[in-house]
Amino acid sequence: MKGWCPGAWVPMASGDGLVVRVRPRLARLSRAQVEGLCDVALRYGSGVIDITSRANLQLRGVAEADHEALLQELARLGLLDVDPGLEGRRNVLVAPDWRTGDRTARLAEALLARLADLPELPAKFGFAVDAGAALWLEGASADIRLETGADGGLVLRADGAASGRAVREDEAVDRVVELAEWFAVAAGRASGGASPTLRRMTRMARLLEAVPLPEAWTGVAPCAGRAAPRGPGMTRIGPVVGFAFGQARAGRLPEILKAAGAQAVRVTPWRCLVLEGGRAVAHAPDHAITDPGDPLLGIDACPGAPLCPSASVETRALARRLAREPGLAGRSLHVSGCAKGCARARPADLVLVGREGRFDLVANGHAWDEPCQRGSGPDELDALVRQAPVP
Ligand code: SF4
Repeated sequence: MKGWCPGAWVPMASGDGLVVRVRPRLARLSRAQVEGLCDVALRYGSGVIDITSRANLQLRGVAEADHEALLQELARLGLLDVDPGLEGRRNVLVAPDWRTGDRTARLAEALLARLADLPELPAKFGFAVDAGAALWLEGASADIRLETGADGGLVLRADGAASGRAVREDEAVDRVVELAEWFAVAAGRASGGASPTLRRMTRMARLLEAVPLPEAWTGVAPCAGRAAPRGPGMTRIGPVVGFAFGQARAGRLPEILKAAGAQAVRVTPWRCLVLEGGRAVAHAPDHAITDPGDPLLGIDACPGAPLCPSASVETRALARRLAREPGLAGRSLHVSGCAKGCARARPADLVLVGREGRFDLVANGHAWDEPCQRGSGPDELDALVRQAPVP
């Protein structure tokens, strides 16, 4: 699945049917939209809603024949871009605590209005708008970031660079477009120039390992404040609820909103939902995670076999079993059905990678990195996790 971003208009075929991705505007859905989407997921899909690391929602298990009807429902709910081309470009992460009319919301809306001005970019290339009092989106997948600077001003930063360029709000989106154009030219995507290696560059941070960023785009540091909590807990706009592997059940999600008295949700890149305006949920349905210490929050696992045709191993039942392993405490684990590593773009302390029905182990890296141990059977993995060196 890596390298391909399914959308609502152009879904992706998977082992369990079509995967239809819904990109909520500014990562927010009203309660009516959540209820409508859950209804659609139950009627046309498997009833599972994936929360992705790009703060999108995915319906799975949709039959080809139902796709058109599903699109009509999404349009009715206000969850479908009219222009399929723009939908594919709307990779914009937004700090989840934005408020109507604040700087983050203003910038995000301004950027969304200019998507057509961006050059041709790789499918996974994305943007982050993180312009509140503290940064939320550090570590989340984005290539060009608008962030609050140390002096409270705005900084435009290329992902992978330690500092960025101070920009005024009224020029910020123009500068975003300029930086995207620099990427397109430097990676040889605009002209077909550059070396084949550079043309394969799909992300800003990778490109900056090979090509220096012009000085004009550096020099101003983002602010040091980091928002908390990112996992379950209370934020200024409402409580955060997590889900194992980012999978919410459409049959139970409306209950959670009702229990919290929330009028909307914000989707986060940590595969959690913020229940906007809600109170803490004392008794969440069994699959929702409200304990910030739940070990499942530190585990990423892709759908694996039999859902993904690229997988030769089952992943999620295994991940649940390994979550109980005391040796895992405080460490991140990524169980990946194959070396593409769809579930986690960041390194994890331990990565188990399926290959020909067995698992390779990568320590402190990505699913596609060189393994330090190869070919373990599923039954050997508890001991392997227990004994793996602490990075
Ligand atoms: S097995 Fe997992 S990592 Fe591999 S392509 Fe499928 S979803 Fe992605």
